[in-house]
Amino acid sequence: MRNANLVENYPGFPGGISGLNLVNLFEKQLRESGIKVIYEEVTKLDLEDGMFLVETPGRICYSQVVVVASGTKPRRFTDFELPEGVRDKILYEIYPILRVKRKKIAIVGAGDAAFDYALNLGKNNEVVILNRGEAVKCLPILRERARVSPRITYCENTEISRIMSGSQNRMLLECMGPEGISKLYAHFVVFAIGREPQLDFLSEKLRDNAGEMENRGVLYFVGDVKNGAFRQTAIAVGDGIMAAMKIYRRLEEAYK
Ligand SMILES: Cc1cc2nc3c(=O)[nH]c(=O)nc-3n(C[C@H](O)[C@H](O)[C@H](O)COP(=O)(O)OP(=O)(O)OC[C@H]3O[C@@H](n4cnc5c(N)ncnc54)[C@H](O)[C@@H]3O)c2cc1C
Repeated sequence: MRNANLVENYPGFPGGISGLNLVNLFEKQLRESGIKVIYEEVTKLDLEDGMFLVETPGRICYSQVVVVASGTKPRRFTDFELPEGVRDKILYEIYPILRVKRKKIAIVGAGDAAFDYALNLGKNNEVVILNRGEAVKCLPILRERARVSPRITYCENTEISRIMSGSQNRMLLECMGPEGISKLYAHFVVFAIGREPQLDFLSEKLRDNAGEMENRGVLYFVGDVKNGAFRQTAIAVGDGIMAAMKIYRRLEEAYK
């Protein structure tokens, strides 16, 4: 959500709120509730002797109940190998460069994320959106906002065919467009070419038994990780609350 420019459909925020500010408010409320947060990546979620085993680089812990709210991961660009020297300038989310100013940024994609990223970065930078087709798959309001922005250019039927290191800390992008090959300089390239559920850390054993664990009320998938095209904050929050209530009732029953 930190990548979202303006969240206008989360109840309670008429006029909208930036994704970053909404995340900060969620975090503040979480801290007020005294819940301990451990900032570690779960590298493996497995089953062992009827318990869930949660593994991170720093620890292993066991749990009776698990809620998986791991969201989605960006689809990677695989059309050609990216040269070594430019990899730190190739991004799949914009959170790390939200503060950059007066840079040239190419965004590849034509969906909500691509246009939302462009609107966010276009406040302080020159942005070009490269769509390899003609279909624009974003909300009309995002398309219109990008159209009227003086710092956002939209190019259809255009795709990057080569990326090279350029001068002044920039990359030189070779693009195939309606008028043949053109060249474009960019400090960053952001790929917004789709997202898929982030479930890399699930062991095979858990994948095989996930349905049964869900039926038993000990495993829950909430939010974007299971919502397909219905990726919205309010839905994710609702899913989370429902899982929490079900778990609470279950534990209440168990310890009666
Ligand atoms: C550009 C953009 C604009 C958007 N605009 C809107 C909007 O206007 N309105 C709206 O309602 N929604 C919007 N969304 C969608 C919204 O951000 C999501 O629906 C919401 O964040 C889903 O919440 P989630 O908790 O399911 O997943 P996420 O917010 O993706 O959170 C998943 C979390 O799990 C963590 N995680 C993943 N794997 C692991 C692991 N192995 N170990 C530990 N942690 C892990 C991740 O780091 C992340 O913090 C937008 C999304 C994008 C990208």
